[in-house]
Amino acid sequence: MTQTVTENFSEQLALRAGALLHSLGATLPDPGPLVARTPISGGALLPLTVDTPAEVDAAIGRAATAFESWRTVPAPVRAGLVRRLAQLLVTHSDELAELVSLEAGKIGPEALGEVQEMIDVCEFAIGLSRQLYGATMPSERPGHRLMETWHPLGVVGVISAFNFPVAVWAWNTAIALVCGDTVVWKPSETTPLTALACHTLLRRAAAEVGADPEVHQLIQGDGSVGSVLVDDPRVALLSATGSVRMGATVAPKVAARFGRCLLELGGNNAAIVAPSADLELAVRGIVFSAAGTAGQRCTSLRRLIVHSSIADQLVDRLAAAYGQLPVGNPLDDGVLVGPLINERAFTAMQDALSGAVAQGGEIVCGGERVDVLGPESYYVRPALVRMPAQTELVREETFAPILYVLTYDEIDEAIALNNGVPQGLSSSIFTLDQREAEQFLTHSDCGIANVNIGTSGAEIGGAFGGEKNTGGGRESGSDSWKAYMRRATNTINYSTELPLAQGIHFG
Ligand code: NAD
Repeated sequence: MTQTVTENFSEQLALRAGALLHSLGATLPDPGPLVARTPISGGALLPLTVDTPAEVDAAIGRAATAFESWRTVPAPVRAGLVRRLAQLLVTHSDELAELVSLEAGKIGPEALGEVQEMIDVCEFAIGLSRQLYGATMPSERPGHRLMETWHPLGVVGVISAFNFPVAVWAWNTAIALVCGDTVVWKPSETTPLTALACHTLLRRAAAEVGADPEVHQLIQGDGSVGSVLVDDPRVALLSATGSVRMGATVAPKVAARFGRCLLELGGNNAAIVAPSADLELAVRGIVFSAAGTAGQRCTSLRRLIVHSSIADQLVDRLAAAYGQLPVGNPLDDGVLVGPLINERAFTAMQDALSGAVAQGGEIVCGGERVDVLGPESYYVRPALVRMPAQTELVREETFAPILYVLTYDEIDEAIALNNGVPQGLSSSIFTLDQREAEQFLTHSDCGIANVNIGTSGAEIGGAFGGEKNTGGGRESGSDSWKAYMRRATNTINYSTELPLAQGIHFG
């Protein structure tokens, strides 16, 4: 493709982004040094201003002030804001999904799925607003009642990653708002436009239901802008999604001020394929998990641990499936693998592939760059690499579509390989042997352990998160809401005596 054609195409994408923002009701940002780009062509979409530390400070101040009244609104009434947000998301799902495709490079169905995930978590939060239950326990003292009550926490700082630019925000924000918290959001500097769109929809929902729009603040910029949020003692909970490196920087800072952290960091996810596996199903699950979103999900499948008796057969079938994966413009129908986010991701992938070969690995297929829309965009064929052992390189997360294949002979060995990495996000086993499946579910050390499905594509109803270097946080469904509230234990004496616990007599 000639340079001029690509430039014209980039201009069209920029115009389209502007039009989408307009139809989502967003005011176009003032131009500034933060340039939103599209990985589809590598071209610029819009330049935006970056928030200064003083502006971040003011945004936290507005959220802290709004918290004082928002906390007193009954939770089921607070849910009215989330309900209206969900309705607006339904109405605008196509536009928002297209903006996600433009900024994050997701193929249409995955971008729409991400918006659906936002709607799902809003519905969950609405129901949750009537279920913020506390327990009541029998008191050891006569005429006493012992119970736990849950209270809003305060300002929640949300730092999010580029690869789920809207869903992760919704996981945090929908739950935080029904819990009575207010939110300051620092999205990835790579996806500022989708953030602007979400912020606009939330503010509009607030205006329409008569809620204080200041319950949500958006700050834009890179990690240095995020670090103002990290250091501010008014931020009661910092929910940070991104790389292990980012988590290792922010977590000690929040701990030093005795704040709370909810960390959703990198993964290095594995699937075990046992001799009894339904290979047809396994191939489909593996290809979606490893190549979907061009390997740029936190839950992307990065390590395949195959029983040696079926390894050759499975690798052949995977190579055949990989050969048929359409790589291309994610806005085009039928494309399954879109671009990498930027040149840095491409370089990291190429470095990992040469490192793997140097360590005795064999590239079965993929890894090469594909020219789809010129030199500023980075499209690759997903790579399948057989490795002789789980080397240091395999133990690292490379945020690109590389699937390392390892073999095993005994199930204990396979589980040890699964657990033998610093991260602990997602894992799965393909087997028809129930004993083996149960053994895996008991011993996988990950926050997510699946049977006969891949590692990616979680539902919002379960708690989402991982162990070890993934950070230990849980978001989304189940009882994850507890991270967004504080618990008080209450003892109420309705007797005329003052008995002490443990039978103590005092004076
Ligand atoms: P990243 O760590 O580069 O950036 C994530 C966010 O952190 C961005 O908003 C960035 O500006 C901010 N940030 C970076 N340094 C900071 C600092 N010192 N202080 C405050 N904020 C800072 O990650 P990325 O490249 O955007 O996303 C990919 C990574 O995120 C992968 O490792 C992936 O596995 C992980 N991820 C994890 C989950 C999960 O739920 N576990 C979900 C999505 C992505």
